[in-house]
Amino acid sequence: LSDRLTSVFSSLRSKGRLSDADIDATCREIRIALLEADVALAVVKDFVARIKERARGAEVSQALNPAQQVVKIVNDELIEILGGETRRLRYAKTPPTVVMLAGLQGSGKTTLAGKLAKWLRDQGHAPLLVACDLQRPNAVQQLSVMAERAEVAVFAPEPGNGVGDPVEVARQSIEHARRQQHDVVIVDTAGRLGIDQELMRQAADIRDAISPDEVLFVVDAMIGQDAVSTAQAFMDGVGFDGVVLTKLDGDARGGAALSVRHVTGRPIMFASTGEKLADFDAFHPDRMAGRILDMGDILTLIEQAQKTFDEQEAAKMAEKLVSGDGFTLDDFLEQMMMVRKMGPIKNLLGMMPGMGQMRDQLNQVDDRDLDRIAAIIRSMTPGERAEPKLINGSRRARIAKGSGVTVTEVSGLVVRFFEAQKMMKRMSQGMGIPGLPGGRN
Ligand code: GDP
Ligand code: MG
Repeated sequence: LSDRLTSVFSSLRSKGRLSDADIDATCREIRIALLEADVALAVVKDFVARIKERARGAEVSQALNPAQQVVKIVNDELIEILGGETRRLRYAKTPPTVVMLAGLQGSGKTTLAGKLAKWLRDQGHAPLLVACDLQRPNAVQQLSVMAERAEVAVFAPEPGNGVGDPVEVARQSIEHARRQQHDVVIVDTAGRLGIDQELMRQAADIRDAISPDEVLFVVDAMIGQDAVSTAQAFMDGVGFDGVVLTKLDGDARGGAALSVRHVTGRPIMFASTGEKLADFDAFHPDRMAGRILDMGDILTLIEQAQKTFDEQEAAKMAEKLVSGDGFTLDDFLEQMMMVRKMGPIKNLLGMMPGMGQMRDQLNQVDDRDLDRIAAIIRSMTPGERAEPKLINGSRRARIAKGSGVTVTEVSGLVVRFFEAQKMMKRMSQGMGIPGLPGGRN
C-alpha cells in the first residue's frame, strides 16, 4: 500500500494546491487501507466523507505535497477520533467504585478482570473480583485463579452468596466489599458466543442491581467487521461507558477500535495485549492510528518534510538576524514564536560564533511572556511594526488597551526590541562580540 501511495505522491508532487482530484485520489487509497484494517464499511464511508470535507477546507501547506497533506489530515483525524475524550477510570465518591465488565464469550473479560485488579492493586487500591459468570462450569474457577495471580480477593457464589443467581451474587458482593473495605469491585459477567437476548437481560439485571460506576465493554480486536453490530447490541442491551480492546498482541490491524468508537461514541480506555496479567496498558490513540493506517513510512516522510521545512525557516531567520538588515517587530515576534515552536533556532544560534548571548536572552523568555509579547505586537499597526520608532506615548496607550496589558509592558517590549536591534547591528558589523573577527576583545 505504501508503494501505491508513494506513486500517488510523485504524480501529485509540485502541484502545490489541494484540488478535488488530489483529495479523491488519496482518499481512494485511504479507503482501501481502512478496509484492509477491518474497519466496518459504513464507518469507512463516514470517515472518508469527513476527511474530504476537512481536506477541502484545509489551507495548502508549504511543507507538504497535497497527498502528504491529506494523509496527515487522516492521521490527525484518526488520533482525534480515537483519543477524543480519552479518560481514566471514574472512582465513586463513596467507595466502593463498581466496575462491571460486559462482552461476548471469549472476548477476554475474565482475563481483563485479573489485569485490572492487579493494575489497581499496584496503585494502592484494594479491589474485589466478583464471579458473576455462572454459565460456564469452570468460569468461577478461572476467575479465582486470576485473583490468586493478581493477589486480590475474590467473591464467588456459595451457599448464602446466592448460588446460581448472578444478580444475587452481584448484589451480595457489594455488601461484602463494604464490610471488607474493598474500594473497587470488579464484576465479571457471562458472555455467549453470539448476541443473545437472555444474556443481555441478565447483564442488564446485574447492572440494575448494583448500579455500576463504570460499565466496560470488552471487545476482541480480531472481531473485525462484526464490531459494529456487537457494540451496537451491547450499547442497546446494557449500555456502557468505556471500551477495552483485547488481543492487540495478535495481527489484527485494529479497525474494530475505530468502528466501535465511531458507532457508540464511547472512549477506548484500555488495551489488552496478551494472556499475562502484565499485558495491559492505557489505550494510546496515536499508536492505534498508526496501526490502522499502516503508513508508517509515509508518516515518517511527512514528519521529516515538516522538520526540514521548519529548519529552512529557522535558517532564513538566522540569516536575517546575522545580517541585521530590516529587523522589524514582526521578525522579533516570529523569532520568539519560533523559539517556542522548536528548540532548533536556539541551538542554531548557539552554534554560530558570538551568538551565545542572544541565545541566553531567548532562553529567559517563557511561554506566558511569549503570549503577552505576541498580543502586544499583534495590536500594533503594520506601520508601527516596521518602524517601531513611530510608537509614541499615545500609540503605546492604544496598543496597551488593545492587548490588555499595561503601558509599562508595551514600553518594556519596545525597549527590548531596540536592544535586540542594536545587538543585531553590532553583530552584523562584527563589533563588540568577542571571538568574531574585528571584535573588540
Ligand atoms: P471471557 O470469556 O470474555 O471471560 O474471555 P477470557 O478472559 O476467558 O479469554 C478468552 C481467551 O482469550 C483466553 O484463552 C485468554 O487467555 C485469551 N486472552 C484474553 N485476553 C487476551 C489478550 O489480550 N491477548 C491474547 N493473546 N489472549 C487473550
Ligand atoms: Mg469469562
